[in-house]
Amino acid sequence: MEKTKIILEEEEMPTSWYNVLPDLPLPLPPALHPATGKPVTPADLAPIFPMGLIEQEMSHQHYIEIPEEVQSIYRMWRPTPLHRAYRLEKALDTPAKIFYKYEGVSPAGSHKPNTAIAQAYYNKKEGIKRMATETGAGQWGSALAMGCNFFGIECKVYMVKVSYFQKPYRRILMETWGAKCVPSPSEDTQSGRNILAQDPDCPGSLGIAISEAVEDAVNRDDTKYSLGSVLNHVLLHQTIVGQEAKKQLEKADSFPDMIVGCIGGGSNFAGVFLPFIPDKLKGRKLRIICVEPEACPTVTKGPYTYDHGDVAGLTPLLKMYTLGHTFVPPPVHAGGLRYHGMAPIVSHLANLGVIEAVALPQTPVFEAAVRFARAEGIVPAPEPAHAIKVVIDEALACRESGEKKTILLALSGHGHFDLAAYDAYLGGKLEDYAYPQEKVAEALAQLPKL
Ligand SMILES: *Cc1c(COP(=O)(O)O)cnc(C)c1O
Repeated sequence: MEKTKIILEEEEMPTSWYNVLPDLPLPLPPALHPATGKPVTPADLAPIFPMGLIEQEMSHQHYIEIPEEVQSIYRMWRPTPLHRAYRLEKALDTPAKIFYKYEGVSPAGSHKPNTAIAQAYYNKKEGIKRMATETGAGQWGSALAMGCNFFGIECKVYMVKVSYFQKPYRRILMETWGAKCVPSPSEDTQSGRNILAQDPDCPGSLGIAISEAVEDAVNRDDTKYSLGSVLNHVLLHQTIVGQEAKKQLEKADSFPDMIVGCIGGGSNFAGVFLPFIPDKLKGRKLRIICVEPEACPTVTKGPYTYDHGDVAGLTPLLKMYTLGHTFVPPPVHAGGLRYHGMAPIVSHLANLGVIEAVALPQTPVFEAAVRFARAEGIVPAPEPAHAIKVVIDEALACRESGEKKTILLALSGHGHFDLAAYDAYLGGKLEDYAYPQEKVAEALAQLPKL
């Protein structure tokens, strides 16, 4: 009998992260210093990140060993299961084989602890006492709060103000794990005070919160900054997910025809697909489909150019698909997918045509999420629900064509803290936001001039 869950033993957990940089067909365009426009050096990044992470950011080593202290924390919930979606396949009456790699079993409910634990470890190792970060709906803030707690590091989280007041549960989770969380823009930083002076009711944005957290880290010797997505070292830490999935599919005598995931900053999905990139580059037939919201269509509608990661322009310039660092996306429920930029590695691979991207409105996404929940039981987070919609459509296409494709879905987290969004959908109150073309044009006019 074929298995419903493909489980790895703890001893089978990968002991290295996979670094795609040396395998890229063309080198990744470097990050540039915001003032000089020259490629950033490790010394430029030293005020905000510990050297261990800066080395990983620029490393050309194929595999980087996962420290035992990090592995031992990973083992509390890893390896995560790979599920075969038998009940969904049956409900769709499809000959396609659907597998999903489920990261919702982590204590924070998503993939984010994979990098939070690693980042807290490297900061601790270099004697850092305090970490500062931003969070939108709270997924990243809660993951870092847990990571810092395990390593005895103080954690300060700048949380986008609208979410702070509308979504208290993840704030409570952060506080339970011992972090201090303030609504952003705050009075605690100059960037925050500047914005509040202009607009005391500013609802905040991820770009503003990043400026506050970076400023906090730059101004204190005992503090470093931490980012939960986008950067090379974050994607690196997430590759444990794809390496596990690959082993699990081998156990099921399978290899995917298609891998589907959602992209906000790009880390969860890159973590799943990067370990398959060497196979694809060697000519193996494999489609890699990134799914983003129509309300924040970074890869499908943005230009591929150098831009800042934050509103104040404190971060290095990254070559990426971007909607402009001052773009404030509409309040769709997939909070994790509302970032203006995209990981340079994901952007580069999309630009080379190695991976593809599609954008979806949120109503059909929630329809797919509910269909998935009713078949498989798991209530998905609104972010991966974007990928579920594409998986269902592809499986239905297989029903028409009779093809038995193998589909791997990156199920990045559960939706237990997003039930208000489900309530809106079930109550018929969900709105689709049209692509705000003028707003994007306005924000693109503010791209840095090189
Ligand atoms: C944060 C988050 C995302 C989006 O971030 P990426 O860096 O693109 O992965 C996706 N899914 C979940 C569950 C998240 O918490």
